[in-house]
Amino acid sequence: MKGLMQPNPMNLVHVLEHAARFHGRREIVSSTVEGGIHRYTYCDALARTKKFANALRKLGVDVGDRVGTLAWNGYRHFEAWYAISGQGAITHTVNPRLFPDQVAYIINHAADKFLVLDTTFVSLVEGIQDQLRSVEGFIILADREHMPQTSLKNVHCYEDLIAGEPEEFAWPELDEETASSLCYTSGTTGNPKGVMYSHRSNILMALAVNGAEGFGLTTMDSVLMVVPQFHANSWGLVYSAPMSGAKLVLPGPNLDGKSTYDLITNEQVTFSAAVPTVWNIFIAYLEEIGGKLPTLREVVIGGSAVPRSMIKIFDEKYDVKVLQAWGMTETNPLGTLNRTVPEVMALDHEAQLDYATKQGRPLFGVDIRITNEAGTSLPHDGKTPGRLMVRGPWVIQSYYGLEESVLDADGWFDTSDIATIDELGFMQITDRAKDVIKSGGEWISSVDLENTAMGHESVAMAAVIGMAHPKWDERPLLILQLREGASVSKDEMLDYLGSRVAKWWLPDDVVEIDVIPLGGTGKINKLSLRETFKDHVLPTI
Ligand code: AMP
Repeated sequence: MKGLMQPNPMNLVHVLEHAARFHGRREIVSSTVEGGIHRYTYCDALARTKKFANALRKLGVDVGDRVGTLAWNGYRHFEAWYAISGQGAITHTVNPRLFPDQVAYIINHAADKFLVLDTTFVSLVEGIQDQLRSVEGFIILADREHMPQTSLKNVHCYEDLIAGEPEEFAWPELDEETASSLCYTSGTTGNPKGVMYSHRSNILMALAVNGAEGFGLTTMDSVLMVVPQFHANSWGLVYSAPMSGAKLVLPGPNLDGKSTYDLITNEQVTFSAAVPTVWNIFIAYLEEIGGKLPTLREVVIGGSAVPRSMIKIFDEKYDVKVLQAWGMTETNPLGTLNRTVPEVMALDHEAQLDYATKQGRPLFGVDIRITNEAGTSLPHDGKTPGRLMVRGPWVIQSYYGLEESVLDADGWFDTSDIATIDELGFMQITDRAKDVIKSGGEWISSVDLENTAMGHESVAMAAVIGMAHPKWDERPLLILQLREGASVSKDEMLDYLGSRVAKWWLPDDVVEIDVIPLGGTGKINKLSLRETFKDHVLPTI
């Protein structure tokens, strides 16, 4: 027997409709590409979204078409998202930090019909225009006054396009499993692969994230969405903030410490989310000016492991709670979040900080387990590392354009992360499967070593890679980027690590480089480091 409740299928644009109708006065504040702050309400945003939906229709965009966006977090990008998905087309967020050839590859692979872009990325797209096979035209997110000179063909000015359009649009009734958005993995191994989200997967994740065990946003919040819309849907904030009626603050291209600080202060930001690299820059600025963060209550940090020192300084000096999150493009993206539990609250402060370095527990909807190479489940004892497997309604089934399922026989997706899960359900990433250092049949966690090294006051960033070793198979090489003006000798560093990690984990060598290379989503580019150090000879060989 079926339930007798309304079957209304979920459409992402209902989120914005709700925000406009019941939180209509709440603001979206954008730091713009043109310079200056733009401010309007959810009500205004919906009206303009409908205008753009009409404009897209006129351009021939239809249900199922892909429309690419190359843009910072800003109000026009926000409108474009809801307009594209709301009418049944697919918002394909392209990460402009990828190499131009990769950008061209994914636009072609997705067969985007139009590209919506900020003026910042015009020259990037001009450079690859000749390679683009499916794009019929370009929509530049600007008004007439700020339209750049460009060699792009068939260019439209966003404000001109929407100017004459009506503020009404009849959103189609879509099956909630209709594709809404497309996001490619960063492609550190091979070509990027497309993950196709649905209205259902996005809304379920946003609902889960909005619970008190998740981000717990309310209409009292002011949310600074630093994490880019092109980085796994800004971790769902673009939906969860309007859903809860929170004020939304969008930083545009301005991600430096001062801009972030000014937005937090001026917009009384209570909640924010970004990768560790952004917070590193921010904290350095904060320390330099002796800033304060009286309104900020919590920051979500994820994308790569959060150093303990970062959690500590936010907590002890600024009274801001760090919520570590783990997820991936393939998990829409939120998988786990580190909110505390009574058992952890009962520990002393330092032990609580240790716990905060774990990646957290799954939100309802996501299930996780760890397995060995044979696929057998491993114990949740907080010690045994295994392959992290995940499943749930916002977890990938197959990649776009590749028919076959990427799940195992029981429906689990192999994340390629190595993790432990403890008795309280807290998951801790110990490595990427390809980065873990296999020494004498045991595993050394490159992430753990990096985090520990980053606790040293002279170290700005640390990376650990495995180097071939005739006796042990692989041994760790520690690569350091030091803070400006700081110095630390190899022996000092090994002494520092010696009291913090097992002896057999100690790196066989320590080297310094000016800048540790980062990939398109702020993660350490180990591929490039392996290439740089391929001829390095460990002193222990
Ligand atoms: P992406 O799809 O680019 O978001 O990358 C996902 C990968 O980032 C995951 O599989 C993890 O390896 C890594 N990652 C994400 N969040 C964390 C975290 N909090 N700690 C450690 N690694 C993380």
